[in-house]
Amino acid sequence: MSSSSSALDHAAPAPRPSAARPLAPLSALAFKPGTAFTVEPVAKATVRPFDLEAEVTKSLCPRCPRVLDARLVVRRGDLYMLKECPEHGAFDLFFAHDHAFVDGVRSLTRTPEGAPLRKTRFEDFGYVRSIWIDVTDACNMACPNCFTDARFKPTREPDLEALAERLRAIPGRKPVVYLIGGEPTLRKDLVPFLATLIREGFIVKLETNGIRLVDEDYCRELKEAGLEWVYLQWDSLHEPTLEKLRARPMLDVRRRALENCIRFEFKVLLACMIERGENDGQIGELLEFARRTPHVSTVSLLPSSRLGRNELTRETDKIGASDVVAEIERTTGGQIARRDFLWFLRVFRLLYRLTGNPDYRPRSCILHLAYYHDGKTLVPLNRLFNPLTLARHWRAIPRTWPLIRSFARPDRMTYMPHVSFVVVEDFLDRQTIDLHEASNCDKAYMTDTGYSLACGYNAIERGT
Ligand code: SF4
Repeated sequence: MSSSSSALDHAAPAPRPSAARPLAPLSALAFKPGTAFTVEPVAKATVRPFDLEAEVTKSLCPRCPRVLDARLVVRRGDLYMLKECPEHGAFDLFFAHDHAFVDGVRSLTRTPEGAPLRKTRFEDFGYVRSIWIDVTDACNMACPNCFTDARFKPTREPDLEALAERLRAIPGRKPVVYLIGGEPTLRKDLVPFLATLIREGFIVKLETNGIRLVDEDYCRELKEAGLEWVYLQWDSLHEPTLEKLRARPMLDVRRRALENCIRFEFKVLLACMIERGENDGQIGELLEFARRTPHVSTVSLLPSSRLGRNELTRETDKIGASDVVAEIERTTGGQIARRDFLWFLRVFRLLYRLTGNPDYRPRSCILHLAYYHDGKTLVPLNRLFNPLTLARHWRAIPRTWPLIRSFARPDRMTYMPHVSFVVVEDFLDRQTIDLHEASNCDKAYMTDTGYSLACGYNAIERGT
């Protein structure tokens, strides 16, 4: 293992912490839960004189999870959803900004089928390649916008032996397993569980707030268990932003956790919840930080959802994927632009049609982009097809080779020091879920009785 204890010194604005400094006690949490975000019904959800009707789909009632007919309309350049519940009234709700971009995305991701959201057997989904498991509802934090509403609801902890048995029974290619929560590292039996799965050939990704990763011995245990991937909650490089988003100071924890990830050579994905007016203007800085930090392969940008507990999201026109993509373009000075995301979707669609490989199945709620960097410039890979750009960055040819090598199994991609990924992922919520899109999801939650596609599970099971 390489020692990289100073690897972050150049990147983050805060002073380097002492390794022995204890974490703040839980009693230091500033947040206590209050009311969740709700939307109010209107007298009638009608198409207004200058609205343009865009699409007809199905959605849910924001109050009860009843399935409703829904219409998407273009109003002043944005999209709105109209629907009516016989019990809870009519709803006229903001859906997304920038209908031109959203239409471009949806035209590339539309699929003819509208499959059921739940199934008993994982393999019946066909194209789904990853399984998400809530291993606990307990958490050592209390974030105001926790989409699982962890910590303030009764703790449920599934039997991990039984889960391993069910995973073992899945025929064919083994799915990627995401262990989430709550905070999964609070489970004492987590390490033997993931060691068993990895030994049996599963790729396991651990999602964590990083508090336990501050402990070097715990990281060593994870490494010896075979863990390669850490999905580390990150959000910002600024303490005031972190205190707002996470209700406690977190910069020290983040830095120490990431330093340990680098020390133990985990592949790291930085998970950033994006909240309007808080850290949406910091996206360029986050991408720049990822570019300069070893072992960080991906920045995942998650527009703050209205699922679970949502104390911060007061706006009805909440931030969404189109806003985040616009901020990427603005904060990187156009180095990564909207059109680059559309190019990747087009290529994914083509690859999916040619190969049938579900890893390339395009979806409207998750946008992927890979970019090359050999200095300060970020170059989306599509731009390397321009001969002048390629001439300037000719070293990209050997350095992006591992991407081509892992073409058939992108889930097994190795870390590449000069290639990074940015992912923008919208969590569909009950207010504006499009069930047609939700049924196109490629992630399934393992539930007590079977499997449920992720956005459907989030909107129906977690709700608001
Ligand atoms: S968002 Fe994550 S870290 Fe925060 S309370 Fe929820 S589960 Fe815990």
